[in-house]
Amino acid sequence: SARQVNIAIIGAGGVGKCFLSQLEWLAARRQNQKLVLTYIATSKKAVYSDSYSPIALDSVVSTLSSSSQAPLALPKLVDYLAASGTKTVLVDNTSSQDIADAYPSFLRRGISIVTPNKKAFSGSYKLWQDIFAAKEEGGALLYHEASCGAGLPVISTIKDLVETGDEVTKIEGVFSGTMSFLFNSFAPTSGAGGGKWSAEVAKAKELGYTEPDPRDDLNGLDVARKLTILARYAGLEVESPTSFPVQSLIPKELESVASGDEFLTRLPEFDAQMEEVKAEAQKEGKVVRFVGSIDVASKQVKVGLEKFDLSHPIAALKGSDNIISFYTKRYGSNPLIIQGAGAGGDVTAMGVTSDLLKVLAQL
Ligand code: NAD
Repeated sequence: SARQVNIAIIGAGGVGKCFLSQLEWLAARRQNQKLVLTYIATSKKAVYSDSYSPIALDSVVSTLSSSSQAPLALPKLVDYLAASGTKTVLVDNTSSQDIADAYPSFLRRGISIVTPNKKAFSGSYKLWQDIFAAKEEGGALLYHEASCGAGLPVISTIKDLVETGDEVTKIEGVFSGTMSFLFNSFAPTSGAGGGKWSAEVAKAKELGYTEPDPRDDLNGLDVARKLTILARYAGLEVESPTSFPVQSLIPKELESVASGDEFLTRLPEFDAQMEEVKAEAQKEGKVVRFVGSIDVASKQVKVGLEKFDLSHPIAALKGSDNIISFYTKRYGSNPLIIQGAGAGGDVTAMGVTSDLLKVLAQL
């Protein structure tokens, strides 16, 4: 008979809902394993039972929204999942730091984790160490492909490079779909077009490319978190995403305005500054882009604006795509380049689902 694997899910937002439909597709096709959803929660509601009875995947979203059960507190959830006596995978589809902080307690009890959540891997270096120690101790598995570049194979690539003995010398790229879209529109390689900076930000927000408050994209922290993760895999002991230079594109004067809307209203006052940055690059025949880079030998990690020749792959990026270039000893001067959509529910969920497949193959 088919071996059973229990699945527990936290988070059912943009990525979580897409993951649920991919899980339903996968569970229907899984020959040697019976996938049983035993717990699902959002920040407000949950569905689970003391007998771990299967939650039907085809109706889970409506079951969840009509549920009157509250989520279990994290220590209780660890006990509940560990007591089932069945191999269990936790899927964290939130961006919660609290849940990330609890990964060691899940892993130590043998509960495997797959997640697109960056917080566990880009927080303090101590949390990073605790997580990998707990994983060893509990014999659990852990994958987080979608924490960098959504469904693009970025984490698996750096791991493969390092674990096969290649030497990564430099990583460089555009790690934010929002920043990609903004600069591809503001400073197109054609030179023509490109509206005022504030107008491009407003347009990106209208199209749903930014966070509700665009400052959460413009502060560079999201990119810094991804760089922290990659730098750690490349062997650098980066203390936190604020321990290296990160250029924020929020004008000082607008850092503390109350709302995202007020920020957008006042942003035109600063258009001249960005226009100058753009013109300066143009004078050199270049375009400006918001990039992250890691220089392994000099241990330098940084995030901010840089100028690129029009022929450079970073300059030629389209839409809201991400691009990540790995310079290594084996690849020499022509980097290994990964490029494509770095955000979106379906592609991000694909990263999570393919991680789940890797775990299932080893359980
Ligand atoms: P979302 O805000 O749409 O959904 C988050 C879900 O998590 C909600 O259901 C919310 O109720 C739940 N949640 C939050 N905190 C919780 C808590 N403490 N306990 C229980 N439930 C909690 O977010 P999303 O866009 O689906 O993103 C999910 C994750 O995927 C995030 O970590 C995000 O950074 C990552 N990610 C998203 C994308 C993307 O394109 N959306 C791309 C790459 C990575």
